[in-house]
Order: sequence, then C-alpha cells, then structure tokens
Amino acid sequence: MALFKKKKYIKLTPSSNNKEDKQPKPSVPDNLWEKCPSCKKIIYTKDLGTTKTCQHCGYCFRLDCRERLFMTVDEHSFEEWDSDIKVVNPISFPGYEEKLKKMQATTGLHEAVITGQGTIEQQPVVIAIMDSQFIMGSMGHVVGEKITRAFERATDLKLPIIIFTASGGARMQEGIISLMQMAKISAAVKRHAKQGLLYITVLTDPTTGGVTASFAMQGDIILAEPQATIGFAGRRVIEQTIRQELPEEFQKAEFLLKKGFVDKIVARHELTKILAQLLAFHQGGNR
Ligand SMILES: [Zn+2]
Repeated sequence: MALFKKKKYIKLTPSSNNKEDKQPKPSVPDNLWEKCPSCKKIIYTKDLGTTKTCQHCGYCFRLDCRERLFMTVDEHSFEEWDSDIKVVNPISFPGYEEKLKKMQATTGLHEAVITGQGTIEQQPVVIAIMDSQFIMGSMGHVVGEKITRAFERATDLKLPIIIFTASGGARMQEGIISLMQMAKISAAVKRHAKQGLLYITVLTDPTTGGVTASFAMQGDIILAEPQATIGFAGRRVIEQTIRQELPEEFQKAEFLLKKGFVDKIVARHELTKILAQLLAFHQGGNR
C-alpha cells in the first residue's frame, strides 16, 4: 500500500522561523562601485585610488575642497582666511537662508570656496579651492569677496595665487549681486597681475557659467584636469540657440586644449608636482 503512504513534510515551527530571521541578512555595502560620468564604465571604488581617477579614460572624480587641499599643500602649512564673512540673503530670495543653513550643516563648510595661504613643496602660495558640493560651487557675494580678498592679500604679500575652479556659475539666488562678483574679482586679478605676480588656474569638473567667463580664464597659466567639463552656457541651450548639433567632445578639457583655451591638461597624480615646478620657475618674477 505504498501508493497511499502519507508524504513526509518537514515541519516549520515558529521557533525555526525566528531562527532564520536572526541570521544576518546578506548586505551589499554602499559606494562599492562607481560609474564614471565621462566614459560611463562601472569601476570598483577601490580601483579609483587616492587620486580618484578613472583608469579607463582618466576622468578625475570630483573632490571636496578638503580632499583637494590635502592633496595639494604641504602638511600643516595651510592657514585659512575669511571663514567668518557673514552670509546674507541680499535680494530676499525665498528659502535661500534655509538652503544655506542646510548646505553648511551637510558639508561642514562656510561657503562654496576656501581661501588661505600655504606652501607647495616649501614654496609659499595663496590658494583658493571651490567646492561643487556647496550649491554647485556657485558664486555669490561671499565667494566673490573671499576670492577678491585672496587676490588683494596675495598682491600685498607679493605671492603667487592658485585657484581650483569647480562651479555651476553665478548664484541665481543672489541675482545681480552674484554677477557683480565677476567684475570685482577681475579687477583684483588685474591689480595682482600689474605687480608681475603669477596666477595659475586649475579647471576641474565642472567649471561653467560666470566663473568661466571671469577669473577661471584669466590665469597666466591655465591647467585643466582630464575630461573636465568646461564651458559657459549649457550644451542644450547652445544647440537650441544656434540650431546646430555640437561635436561630441564639446566643452571637454581636451577640446578646449585643441582650441587654445587651456595650456595643459594634467593628470591628477602629477598635478602637485607640476604646480611646484611652475612656482619654482616663476620665483622672483615680481622683481
Ligand atoms: Zn572613465
């Protein structure tokens, strides 16, 4: 009578269910993989290395200003300036104060740029580093004032200045006040240049809008990181305006190098060395 023999089932008791619940669930850690914004390849995060560079196309992933500072200046040499300039809402833009407070809390930064004095391979230099994490590195009155003061002090101290740009352009929440910063900084750049002092810009991804249209392109030497997006208006806006399709590599550092806007594209792992060499070549240039 094996045909009618009752099938044997395994009993799942409530306790055995609980046991399974207590087993650690398999988890995938965050940030294990990154997609390269330039070549779109998926990269194991560890393979990006300390310089955060895509091994396929050389694209340099965005850094925050502290990471950039750490990579650039000699240890313990940096003294920050003007981190206490009051941030206000000059045109009473709705919700702007709340946005600023939120940004300050999430990034731990005062504004979208840090400025100060430090040394690169023992050579004194004024440095400004923009941070695209803070409202897309946009330029409002505080960013403008900090960069202007950095130029003024560099002029007084007879020091070269290096600016790492990373910006979406002028800050719309400050209307015309943000656009005024372009002229204000440009005047300070001119006074610094008149003293025969060196100004180097390093264009990082992204450098766009009013920052490109002013101090980013006023450097005596203009360097750029590989594959960085550099431009003024956005690609789509230009295409719609001129009713023409733009080349694939349009607004990339490599395209700008070909057209003469950029002096050299420097891989991130070589950047500090190249900056140190440029500073050494131009020592005493103001005499
Ligand atoms: Zn890539």
